[in-house]
Amino acid sequence: MAKIKKTRRMAIVLGDQLNADAAIFDDFDKQRDILWMAEVAGESTRVWTHKARIALFLSAMRHYRDARRNAGYTVDYRQVDDGAADSLGEELAEAIRRNQPEELVMVQAGEWRVQREIESAAEEYGIELQVLDDLHFFSTPSDFANHAEGRKQLRLEFYYRELRKQYGILLDEDGQPIGGQWNFDSENRGAFDKSGPRDLPAPPAFRSHGPTQDVLQFVAKQFESHPGSLDSFNWPTTPGQAERALEEFIKHRLPSFGKYQDALWTDEPFLYHSLLSSSLNLKLLDPRQVVRAAEEAYHLGHAPLASVEGFIRQILGWREYVRGVYWLNMPEYLERNALRARQPLPDLYWSGETDMHCLSQIVGQTLEHGYAHHIQRLMVSGLFALLLGVDPRQVHEWYLAVYVDAVEWVELPNTLGMSQYADGGVMASKPYCASGNYINRMSNYCKSCRFNPSKATGEEACPFTTLYWDFLARHQDELTENTRMQLQLKNLNRKSADEIIAIRKQAKEFRVHLCGES
Ligand code: FAD
Ligand code: SF4
Repeated sequence: MAKIKKTRRMAIVLGDQLNADAAIFDDFDKQRDILWMAEVAGESTRVWTHKARIALFLSAMRHYRDARRNAGYTVDYRQVDDGAADSLGEELAEAIRRNQPEELVMVQAGEWRVQREIESAAEEYGIELQVLDDLHFFSTPSDFANHAEGRKQLRLEFYYRELRKQYGILLDEDGQPIGGQWNFDSENRGAFDKSGPRDLPAPPAFRSHGPTQDVLQFVAKQFESHPGSLDSFNWPTTPGQAERALEEFIKHRLPSFGKYQDALWTDEPFLYHSLLSSSLNLKLLDPRQVVRAAEEAYHLGHAPLASVEGFIRQILGWREYVRGVYWLNMPEYLERNALRARQPLPDLYWSGETDMHCLSQIVGQTLEHGYAHHIQRLMVSGLFALLLGVDPRQVHEWYLAVYVDAVEWVELPNTLGMSQYADGGVMASKPYCASGNYINRMSNYCKSCRFNPSKATGEEACPFTTLYWDFLARHQDELTENTRMQLQLKNLNRKSADEIIAIRKQAKEFRVHLCGES
């Protein structure tokens, strides 16, 4: 390939680094420096990625490229349909040969593997690579490492409080939490009454403009065999659209967000959730702007404290915390399997075809939109995989593939740690294990299901309930030291030996039926 020109610095922009105020621009000389971006097919096929996730990344990248070019930057951009190489490392090597930069600069990648791939390419060509902190976040991996130092156990609450104090968020004049407590979690667990959610505001609709139309057509054809649909594609692909998504959320859904944060309802995939994760993770939206907007809504009397604090805790708390856990523990974190779970992921995760109404709802909406809210991910699809004993690596790969907001630094600790307890308690102080009764309490799914959530054996037994008792029985010895598991284990021990035998037999049958193994 012909050389374009001698370049001082080539700044690498990855598909989830689409902020125009990134640190790479601090010392950028438009005459001598260039931006480099590449769409690499391997990133969509490494895990069997949902079409909407591929389309969102490609479309947002192309919008970003066009905006940067319009702002006078030189962007060396390779489209996947221009014959780009299959791996990022190869494509970068090609760009180094083409542009012959004196040095490379990048913001730290969101994924350990990608960071290593880029470092290897730079090493191979003997070219200096500057890696800058990602200023999009409130804290850095080294801030988190300092916080973690000397602590026996990490807990979200402590890191969250530190960040609240550091950034002065929801504090009174004495530096104390507004409302007299740091956390209103107990007010964030409401379920709907029988009539369900009323006057639910629809999420804003986004026009597919600029490169988005082309990308949607291209992905539909090129990645035809990939899971999911593009029919309902409605994700922000530019900072302008992301800002509108934020404004509409604050105006219409934030006031009820807190109360119904954990609730579930048939055919209502979004409820009062913000749908901002993909915009945040692609860095179309700045988390400071999001937190400020929520805090202002409280001060203006537009949204109650429990909603605002609950929402801010997700972004200032969980989002920063999981990133810290990821960088502190990679790469060995990926290999963890504390509960020695070995079952293959059942096919129903790719098809949504199952009699279990809750799972068919969650997988169905995931395939349609590339979205499920937190409790749908944690307490339905994640819970089922945990109870069944699915290999956490396979569960991780599914979550990384099917959600539009999936990037490894946030997906992996949530899946492998919080949802599968495969890290043995780094993310969560106990496994998030529950029976069908939890799902029944938080939703109306069970009303239209052929199973009965309170039955653990027999024709009508709910697979969640059977597998819940089976899970406790299988892991009793290793969980017995955990003080937070005592009540659940005590209830298990109230069951007779015959009941346990019947439950375990039925659990085995479910497992053989769903996974082909016992
Ligand atoms: P809201 O409910 O409106 O929350 C507001 C924001 O808070 C989100 O946009 C997100 O940025 C942040 N947030 C909320 N919960 C978490 C959390 N647990 N960790 C980090 N940030 C959080 N989130 C991702 O962004 N990408 C993922 O790949 C991802 N995978 C997950 C896998 C599993 C098994 C589980 C249990 C959770 C996962 N989450 C992931 C966290 C959470 O489910 C999503 O952030 C949330 O559902 C996105 O929807 P929303 O924007 O409507 O969020
Ligand atoms: Fe899900 Fe069980 Fe309820 Fe059916 S009965 S919807 S399988 S929890």
